[in-house]
Amino acid sequence: MTFTSLDFDRLGKQQGFLQVPYSHNLGGWANVFIPTTVVARGKGPTVLVLGGNHGDEYQGQIAAMKLARELTPATVTGRIILIPSLNFPAARAATRLSPLDGMNMNRAFPGQPEGAVTSQIAHFLTTVLFPMSDVVIDIHSGGRSMEFVPCAHMHLVADRDQRARMFAAMLAWNSDFAFLYADIAGTGLLPVEAENQGKLVVTTEMGGGECIPADVHRLTQSGLRNVLIHVGALKGREQTRASLDLPPAVLTQALNREDYLLAPESGVFEIAVDLGGKVKRGQTVGFIHHLERPDRAPDSIVAQTAGYLITMRAPCLTQQGDCVAVIAQGVSAKEVMGA
Ligand SMILES: [Zn+2]
Repeated sequence: MTFTSLDFDRLGKQQGFLQVPYSHNLGGWANVFIPTTVVARGKGPTVLVLGGNHGDEYQGQIAAMKLARELTPATVTGRIILIPSLNFPAARAATRLSPLDGMNMNRAFPGQPEGAVTSQIAHFLTTVLFPMSDVVIDIHSGGRSMEFVPCAHMHLVADRDQRARMFAAMLAWNSDFAFLYADIAGTGLLPVEAENQGKLVVTTEMGGGECIPADVHRLTQSGLRNVLIHVGALKGREQTRASLDLPPAVLTQALNREDYLLAPESGVFEIAVDLGGKVKRGQTVGFIHHLERPDRAPDSIVAQTAGYLITMRAPCLTQQGDCVAVIAQGVSAKEVMGA
């Protein structure tokens, strides 16, 4: 059962840990410590800021660590709880999954109080942190496996009021693209649990890979701050794309299975179009080359729908069934809110 000595009801700034029992060969009574910051100044919303849901996605971890150092109670209107590296053992190992239990944090919800370490962390969020939060911000990137057009994204939740609030907060990240996505790879996701509890949930895919350009760090950090201002938890002037002299965000959605292109066989993947570029239905977007039979023509990866290449597989070496590309269709705000 996860423990913390942090007092979430106390005003001011506290730095502490979530502690998760983890008994191993050289630490029979050991705990995993997960750094956590709470900054509270009374009236206003409670926002939970999470990085490192997947350990190898460092954009959000860096943004949350910086913010945790910078925030003072005087700048906060409400309460901001920051956990920069939610799957802390995975963040230390540069892996997507926890090296302690092999679990994917983003498939572990609602979690179990006496389960594996990852499951215990999930359970603490489900039963303690989500119920006290109005807003949950979960910052992802493609990690080592995918490269995304840096975007804020969301699920198309059924509740119209919740959807409208999430849509406005997603746009407040001020990324060039906004992306509505579907879960084609399992259940137990952190945002779904928070959405089911009625929270305003903001998620992102801030690029990907192990080499993160400076502009992606800037977008991650400015977007996080602007969303906190937008939801009323942080003092400051909200920026919009218009106030930044930028065109409106490109709204996209990939809600159907055929939008997610999977490798038909194992081999070496080559992308054939630019990330963020427009794709026609029937267009070849990539190839799977055959290492053992270079004389064989590569398999073509063909777009089943028209849209934008919103994400692509990062490593070239590919197994059958790996997601190699996602084509997101352009959509209007009216369609999103009316669908
Ligand atoms: Zn992730």
